[in-house]
Amino acid sequence: MKVDIVIVGGGLAGLALAAALRGSRYAVAVVEGRVPQAPAGLDARIYAISPSNAAFLADIGIWKHLDAARMQAVERMEVFGDRSGHIGFSAYDTGVSELAWIAESSLLHQELWETVKRQANVQLLCPARPEALTVGEHAATLQLADGRTLVADLVIAADGSDSWTRKALGVAVDFRHYEQLGVVANFACSEPHRGTAFQWFREDGILAWLPLPGKRISMVWSTPKANGEALCTLSPAELCARVAAAGEHRLGALELLTPPAGFPLRLMRAPRTVGPRFALVGDAAHAIHPLSGHGINLGFQDARVLAETLNGLRGFEHCGDVLSLRPYERRRREEVVALQTMTDGLFRLFVPQNAPLVWLRNTGMNLTGKLPVLRDALVRYALG
Ligand SMILES: Cc1cc2nc3c(=O)[nH]c(=O)nc-3n(C[C@H](O)[C@H](O)[C@H](O)COP(=O)(O)OP(=O)(O)OC[C@H]3O[C@@H](n4cnc5c(N)ncnc54)[C@H](O)[C@@H]3O)c2cc1C
Repeated sequence: MKVDIVIVGGGLAGLALAAALRGSRYAVAVVEGRVPQAPAGLDARIYAISPSNAAFLADIGIWKHLDAARMQAVERMEVFGDRSGHIGFSAYDTGVSELAWIAESSLLHQELWETVKRQANVQLLCPARPEALTVGEHAATLQLADGRTLVADLVIAADGSDSWTRKALGVAVDFRHYEQLGVVANFACSEPHRGTAFQWFREDGILAWLPLPGKRISMVWSTPKANGEALCTLSPAELCARVAAAGEHRLGALELLTPPAGFPLRLMRAPRTVGPRFALVGDAAHAIHPLSGHGINLGFQDARVLAETLNGLRGFEHCGDVLSLRPYERRRREEVVALQTMTDGLFRLFVPQNAPLVWLRNTGMNLTGKLPVLRDALVRYALG
């Protein structure tokens, strides 16, 4: 089968890229290993979508189809240090209508999947897995495990942080393991959250509560591995009591809605995200600590910028040519490096327990809240 572009990985980043290539001159194939399955109830994987990505998802025709009753606007953020540090900011003070939208991963995935499935210039090959990749002077050839062969001008690695495609392309990346788990679970709370997202920088990690529609929240607790594993084995009543206490009982009593699940956390940097006949997007290109909730937000922006780059090529420019792909790499590098560095810096600032650093980070937090310039910078960081 001959196509212009083959995207390996039909996760959120790969599908968003395919959707953003609608109406382009490119014939696209998406190779995905698993047919998406929406959980019966509430999804444990929840994302905070930044306003710029809400706009991108609207541009590619996804946003208007999402079930508004299952989404929650974040109107306020309250962040607490591990002593007396506190900083709060609101959408109103910042001059935006909301700081972010909270949406279930499966809701976004399902909508992207249905959109791409109907798209005239896309062939969705699923379930399908690549087995061998060769990049030649005139084309890239992807051999699938089921015996099919795809010949393309350009291969996109969108198959997550352990990307098979990236390895097959010979791009070595730098992983740093945080030795932490991100423990996620959803809860009903007895007190209303009023659209507030909470975050606590604690001695045992970083706890985030994201507001869900109704009196419900989604938790991400990034915590040392042993503590994360212990949290996952607690009974529902014990977990609710632990999480409510860690969050200073700000939303009253909690009731567990989805069982806890732990994900290992790591930082991943790729020395290059384009090369002859390839580009990396989403977690295949970078991984970031979830304390700032920027992971898929970076992936959506990769999809937006790469689609803009490809759609902007003139007739004589070739989509597999590394020179055609360089603008994508250049335009994305600054944001990705800045957010990775800031997020990693915040993580490192809050891990050590020596007294001067404890004082510095809590005082710094309080000062940041009082200085408009610093606070605006932090809000811009939070908004991605
Ligand atoms: C605990 C935790 C909390 C997080 N919270 C947030 C948050 O609040 N906000 C946020 O923005 N981000 C968050 N993230 C990050 C976010 O989950 C990722 O950035 C996002 O899922 C990356 O999307 P992706 O499409 O690039 O990769 P993936 O979601 O990994 O998708 C890759 C796709 O490729 C497919 N695939 C893989 N290998 C193959 C293969 N060999 N053949 C065929 N198909 C293949 C997979 O089936 C999958 O569909 C969080 C992450 C963690 C761990």
